[in-house]
Amino acid sequence: MAEERKRRKLIPNRTPIPEQDPIKRGSNFKEVSLGYTTEQALEEAERCIRCAKPQCVKGCPVGVQIGDFIGLVQEKDFQGAINKIKETNILPAVCGRVCPQEDQCEKLCVVGKKFEPVAIGRLERFVADWERDHGQKTKPKVAKSTGKTVAIVGSGPAGVTAASDLAQLGHKVTVFEALHEPGGVLLYGIPEFRLPKAIVAEEIAGLTDLGVDIQTNAVVGKLMTVDELMEDFDAVFIGSGAGLPNFMGIDGENLNGVYSANEFLTRTNLMKAYDFPKFDTPITVGDRVAVVGGGNVAMDSVRTALRLGAEEAIIVYRRSDAELPARAEEVHHAHEETIRFELLTSPTKIIGEDGWVKAIECIRMELGEPDDSGRRRPVPIKGSEFQIPVNVVVMSIGTGANPLVPQSTKNLDLNKWGYIVADEETGRTSREGIYAGGDIVTGSATVILAMGAGRKAAGDIHRYLLGEPEPEVETAAEVKNQP
Ligand SMILES: Cc1cc2nc3c(=O)[nH]c(=O)nc-3n(C[C@H](O)[C@H](O)[C@H](O)COP(=O)(O)OP(=O)(O)OC[C@H]3O[C@@H](n4cnc5c(N)ncnc54)[C@H](O)[C@@H]3O)c2cc1C
Ligand code: SF4
Repeated sequence: MAEERKRRKLIPNRTPIPEQDPIKRGSNFKEVSLGYTTEQALEEAERCIRCAKPQCVKGCPVGVQIGDFIGLVQEKDFQGAINKIKETNILPAVCGRVCPQEDQCEKLCVVGKKFEPVAIGRLERFVADWERDHGQKTKPKVAKSTGKTVAIVGSGPAGVTAASDLAQLGHKVTVFEALHEPGGVLLYGIPEFRLPKAIVAEEIAGLTDLGVDIQTNAVVGKLMTVDELMEDFDAVFIGSGAGLPNFMGIDGENLNGVYSANEFLTRTNLMKAYDFPKFDTPITVGDRVAVVGGGNVAMDSVRTALRLGAEEAIIVYRRSDAELPARAEEVHHAHEETIRFELLTSPTKIIGEDGWVKAIECIRMELGEPDDSGRRRPVPIKGSEFQIPVNVVVMSIGTGANPLVPQSTKNLDLNKWGYIVADEETGRTSREGIYAGGDIVTGSATVILAMGAGRKAAGDIHRYLLGEPEPEVETAAEVKNQP
């Protein structure tokens, strides 16, 4: 079969995915990408040659059996396909939408050596959506109870994956989440137009089906400490994320109308500020909004500002187009939606009037020699200061470790940036029985990497709880301060 497919003439380009009209979508929060129809999914699935040793799987941190699931799509067994994905991934509809597949599975797809790689993510989304629309939701098998208990701190992708795996292995799992709804960044960070909240809620509900107890409004480090949890549970996994906002330290950052991207997106997403006064969270909707930064979070913020009604929403980024860290697809979507890009531009101060933002002063930059990151360093051009009149500024220049849990847990090794030191393969920290993974260990990364970390830690927690022999690993101290 695989040989036959290899001989067949492949269509070089991926099947395009339908999208909402760029101008219309700039004023609504509905999903941008509409997903494949059945015909389009079948057409795209046919581009997979079903490699005997699929390279794509090596690029998936949770080991989804990609060739197998696409094979089932080719056979029109969509329920079989989603079941295959769910063997290793509890969040397929989420990952199909937001995983940076171009840097992971699709980057390694053999078809991509000559043509465009198979659109694995779009197919994953298709079968996940197909199940929601047509299928009988399947529930993974849960092993006989081991009598062991595990507490999970945080309900982002890392915590959710660890919880799901541990519950399936027969442990009693309780998730403690600081906010009033579970999901982490999937819920409060990534906007509705890229990842509908209903989809996140539905996939997280899979946890409850497995018998996991989710306690919301439970701020670990305030209500109880990890040390106290260790008195009641046999092990603890920390997946508390990296959402502490950074600011530039320039004049005017305390003015009304200046937000961190985290606050701006949380108010909009989780607290439905876009529906004020129906929901009681206010947000300043600027006529002119500047978002400082060039990553995915900046793109999400600027496109959110547009949808909240900004007449002009502007990206201010200190390097050039080529260095924009955001996914190319997000930048393309932003351009389509008429977002203005002020590149090679850096803010110097925010100017206010009566306590409110009135303008942002910037300086033009040019690119000099490469810095430690390998990217060319932006250098200010003397005397090139200018002002952009705006009434909202959103700072999206990266985040740091959420400090509460690391700092309230005794004898937990942290690196110099305040992230928890944990072994990459097992999630073990410097404290026996306490594990960590996701952004709180790596710094802000991706959904699937956080999920992979949750999975690895769950495997080791299981071995630890059952007293199985330990594989040889580096100690937490040995990995301390590794970048
Ligand atoms: C706006 C935005 C857009 C992004 N877009 C993408 C994308 O398109 N694709 C992609 O792959 N990645 C994206 N990312 C990154 C990705 O979302 C993160 O890497 C991922 O969510 C990390 O998962 P996590 O489980 O480690 O942490 P989080 O998702 O941050 O979850 C941590 C959870 O812990 C909770 N918590 C924190 N402190 C406590 C405490 N003391 N007690 C109890 N609970 C606590 C938090 O409330 C949160 O729910 C984006 C990030 C942002 C901010
Ligand atoms: S590498 Fe590409 S062609 Fe091969 S199995 Fe994976 S998706 Fe299919």
